[in-house]
Amino acid sequence: MILAWPIDRYYWYLLTSLEIAKRRFMMQAYCMKCRAKREIKDPKAITFKNGRPATQGVCPVCGTKMFRIGKT
Ligand SMILES: [Zn+2]
Repeated sequence: MILAWPIDRYYWYLLTSLEIAKRRFMMQAYCMKCRAKREIKDPKAITFKNGRPATQGVCPVCGTKMFRIGKT
């Protein structure tokens, strides 16, 4: 039963699965048009006006621009 888990173990589990998901979806972003996760085509490292790093690319299915926040 999940509620019986100690909280630190729950956090550990959450962080581990997040880390795995991050690695698996390294170069993927959410396409607003397809409403699905897609692999970024022609990924480019860019920086937003507020100074945050991001990756910009194109959806391989519909060609819409897509962004992924965070370093490449
Ligand atoms: Zn798309």
